[in-house]
Amino acid sequence: MAQKATPIELDVAVVNGVELNGQWNRIFQPRAISEYDLSVLEEVTAIPGAESLGYCYQCGKCTSVCPVDVVGDYSPRKVFRRTQLGISLFESQDLWLCTTCADCLRVCPKEVNMIDIMPAVREKAVMDGNAPQELLTAFENTARYGNPLGEPARRRAEWSKSAGVPVPIMKEHKSPVDVLWFVECYPAYHPRGKDASVALARILNALGVDFGILGAEEKCSGDSQRMAGEAGLFEMLAEDNIKALSKYEFNTLMVTDPHAFNAFRHEYPKFGGEWPTYHYTQMLVPRIPDMTFTQPIERRVTFHDPCYLGRHNGEYEAPRQLLQVIPGLNLVEMGRCRENSYCCGGGGGGMWMDSFTSERLTMRLSERRVREAVEYGAEILAVTCPYEVSRFEDAVKSTGNAGKLKVLDIAELLAHSMGLVTADV
Ligand code: SF4
Ligand code: SF4
Repeated sequence: MAQKATPIELDVAVVNGVELNGQWNRIFQPRAISEYDLSVLEEVTAIPGAESLGYCYQCGKCTSVCPVDVVGDYSPRKVFRRTQLGISLFESQDLWLCTTCADCLRVCPKEVNMIDIMPAVREKAVMDGNAPQELLTAFENTARYGNPLGEPARRRAEWSKSAGVPVPIMKEHKSPVDVLWFVECYPAYHPRGKDASVALARILNALGVDFGILGAEEKCSGDSQRMAGEAGLFEMLAEDNIKALSKYEFNTLMVTDPHAFNAFRHEYPKFGGEWPTYHYTQMLVPRIPDMTFTQPIERRVTFHDPCYLGRHNGEYEAPRQLLQVIPGLNLVEMGRCRENSYCCGGGGGGMWMDSFTSERLTMRLSERRVREAVEYGAEILAVTCPYEVSRFEDAVKSTGNAGKLKVLDIAELLAHSMGLVTADV
């Protein structure tokens, strides 16, 4: 029942000789603006990991940075509010729109943590069979083939045949290596991912790095599946990868994929898999003095910080340092960069829910980002996460920017400038 304001009459107070009577000086009892049935919210906050949704006090800071709200109607503040109003998160599209980019967590004064909330709540939805079909297909592919693309495991190292340089596979190599390169799925199977892998293999060879790959023994790191609600599948993949890696001797683990980077840095140690792990851009920076550049790239280039390399793991400099040593290259920053970088839309399972999300947003996040790059006058959008090349290249076409903007991995740009590949710059 609605409460009525009740004034409290205070005694007469005298301040500096002036009498202030109770009528003037009255205050009101605090009262609720409205009463809510909190059972729907409590259904969410009762899930281990999702408690912090209940801490929200509706300040709205998250809404101003959430990349999904830029192209839609979604943010943690809105999730809390709708849940408070009785809309079940389990049945709402809201549950699948978050890309786990972590920008809201960066600004939230109450530490409402969508990076914990989303996988916890999604896990329950997945167990109840209540998830977008395209996401379930990616889960099934990963469980069956070890990769979300549904490609056979035996073809995982096939890309290396076109590298034209030695790419030792550990099982055949039979001796320790300095660097074990965890290639990941899109760099192993996707045509544009393979271009970057070939470029990186040639760079490693040119620099004399002693490296090897797992080939068919490698499986998806599973980090995005975990964020999309498949913790069981993630654990299975982590155990298999740790078992495969533990067979070999190496000093450093190098990853191409920021999502794998995140898994090896924060999750695999919980399962006993702990190695010094670096993103390939971090591995290459100390070797800059050994690089010989023969081809200038006289282009205006902007860089898209991957959420899982930047915000999740704090690496903003290594990719920029590599771009800045390429002769002729003019690096320009977009307004949303570094800590406040926009998101490509691929994280948190977004990579596999393109139809679901694009039907519910005014445009894809990748399309918004491509428009931004064009607005800043960039001719090349440099990336360093394997989800991004395909997402942004599709977005370049769908936004009518073909011919205006090219999308290239930093490995491709470096290798091109070192005369090791001919990239379409
Ligand atoms: S920033 Fe945090 S407290 Fe503020 S509205 Fe968003 S989730 Fe709620
Ligand atoms: S993690 Fe990113 S996409 Fe998800 S709610 Fe926060 S800001 Fe939005």
